[in-house]
Amino acid sequence: MSVTLDLSRVSTPVTPAPVTLSGMTRTALREALIAADICPPEKAKMRATQVWRWIHFYGVTDFAAMTDIGKNMRARLAAAFTVARPEIVERQVSKDGTRKWLIRTAPGIEVEAVYIPDVGRAGALCVSSQVGCTLNCTFCHTGTQKLVRNLTAAEIVAQVQVCRDDLEEWPKFGEDVTDQDERRLSNIVFMGMGEPLYNLDHVADAIEIISDGEGIALSRRRITVSTSGVVPQLEPLGTNTQAMLAISLHATNDALRDVLVPLNRKYNLEALMAGIRAYPGLSNARRVTFEYVMLKGINDSPDEARALIKLIEGIPAKINLIPFNPWPGTDYECSDWKTIERFAAIINKAGYASPIRTPRGRDILAACGQLKSESEKVRASALRKAAPTAVAAA
Ligand code: SAH
Ligand code: SF4
Repeated sequence: MSVTLDLSRVSTPVTPAPVTLSGMTRTALREALIAADICPPEKAKMRATQVWRWIHFYGVTDFAAMTDIGKNMRARLAAAFTVARPEIVERQVSKDGTRKWLIRTAPGIEVEAVYIPDVGRAGALCVSSQVGCTLNCTFCHTGTQKLVRNLTAAEIVAQVQVCRDDLEEWPKFGEDVTDQDERRLSNIVFMGMGEPLYNLDHVADAIEIISDGEGIALSRRRITVSTSGVVPQLEPLGTNTQAMLAISLHATNDALRDVLVPLNRKYNLEALMAGIRAYPGLSNARRVTFEYVMLKGINDSPDEARALIKLIEGIPAKINLIPFNPWPGTDYECSDWKTIERFAAIINKAGYASPIRTPRGRDILAACGQLKSESEKVRASALRKAAPTAVAAA
């Protein structure tokens, strides 16, 4: 049998995409500098610290700004890597001050992030961990969008960087101390698009980067990861990130939770509650937040409020009641305000804090569960054709 090799394709010139540095942990950054021959191994730690501070403390987007690094080395860095921001496709500001960005991190990959003022200590950024979601919670808009892919650590960190750019929150060169009290971005919640525990490695790297004391320095206690209940990943989440845990509960019995959060058929309430009780570091100072979306006539009766208290008995917890945010095409409705208040009163009486989450940014579809980008799964070959020199997110 004779085989003819078509070598014409092999010779097609391909411009390698520059690798972005902002998604690398300190260790990965050091190794990347050595691998790219930027500096000898014995100097790598020092160089990595310099570059790290420029990227994560000062937020620079150009190697040219790294003035304590020689010109020659800056040019070599720029040839091998990038520190540029991804493109912001759309920026919207709600009348209540909520800001939403649609960020294109790669061809066909559009990510939403939402900044909500006056939440947490000063303001919270709601970040996405995936484009779309594999889970199909019936009340969630993101759940109607097929999973396109997991976000890289760089793409998660980029959401924080874009927000700090917009809030003008990077210190000026020479200002070595950031006044934590002045910060408008004080908390991060992984409550945007996607299920963070299906992308734990990248989420953990992103948390390591944004909590680093020589960088953005957000305390891990101000970073909350929300999950629909991927039980086997709870322990690794706690051990690897020390982040605060939020659980999307929404129902107090398996029959209803199977419908609202279909992942419950895999990890039922008994398994979920056992996993939560074993969450590393859980204490009165580090409570788990139970999120409970208020759906009219579905899960909002006084009996269910009492069942909720029974279910979580003994767990250091807060309960966050979320008025359902409608989206085009949903059949669910939000519970009446009176019903929500009655539900909250029962929980308060049992000794739990149960703030009702004020819907924010509804007018720009930025509220919980409303995020859905137009990104769709496109064949990799089509993407390469569309943008052969795309910036690769590391
Ligand atoms: N996938 C993760 C994190 C993203 S969703 C999770 O499910 O926890 C963030 C929160 O918004 C979850 O509690 C989710 O249940 C809730 N949510 C989803 N759709 C909503 C809607 N339409 N109205 C109010 N909350 C919603
Ligand atoms: Fe996915 Fe969370 Fe939406 Fe469920 S609620 S579909 S897990 S993003």
